[in-house]
Amino acid sequence: MLMKTAREEIVAYGNRLIADRLTVGTAGNISVYDPELGYMAISPSGIPYADTALEDVVIMDLHGNIVEGDRKPSSEFALHSAFYLAGIGAKAVVHAHSMYCTTLSCMGEPLRSVHYAIAEAGTNELPLVPYYTFGTPELAAATAEALKNGSRGVILANHGMCASGATLKNAYGLALTMEWCAEVQWRCMSAAKMNVLTKEEMDVALEHYKTYGQKKSGDNQVTGYNG
Ligand SMILES: [Zn+2]
Repeated sequence: MLMKTAREEIVAYGNRLIADRLTVGTAGNISVYDPELGYMAISPSGIPYADTALEDVVIMDLHGNIVEGDRKPSSEFALHSAFYLAGIGAKAVVHAHSMYCTTLSCMGEPLRSVHYAIAEAGTNELPLVPYYTFGTPELAAATAEALKNGSRGVILANHGMCASGATLKNAYGLALTMEWCAEVQWRCMSAAKMNVLTKEEMDVALEHYKTYGQKKSGDNQVTGYNG
């Protein structure tokens, strides 16, 4: 069985997606990439995480070919591949239809620097990827374009969000942080009063994030307060 540890992580964090209310039902999907193999392990399409066995996780290359597995992979495999091909050091991706990120996405709003915690994504604003039909190469291509600003996460218009990281723990921690920041932004917008941090203020926060938290050997990203 290829990538057994990655499969175990995907099932464990998939169950957390439900428990943490980042997604409902079978929406949302998770992948882990092994750059040495050139393969990613990705959650299968349409199977609840509670019912997902290790052999249900699908192993694919980054060009849409199944390497190991009998199940149909998540329809968003090209979206996940876009992160691994973007040259941002991503080795795990969480995609979810979490309530507040999805609300912003339906308002046509990027995730702005309302709270400094968004610096965990490595940028001062998380881009809004234009709307394309889910599961299409066009959505993946538009995401690849948006990732050129160096962000580890994106908002997908009228769809949801994606977070990436050097580990699945990092990616999942960023997903939680994005959702928290999205709720704060939505509350500010609902109150029609929002102070957005300046680029200069965010640059200082981004610098601080490089040395914040407990850095482990072999881990090139720190874990945010949600990690
Ligand atoms: Zn989706």
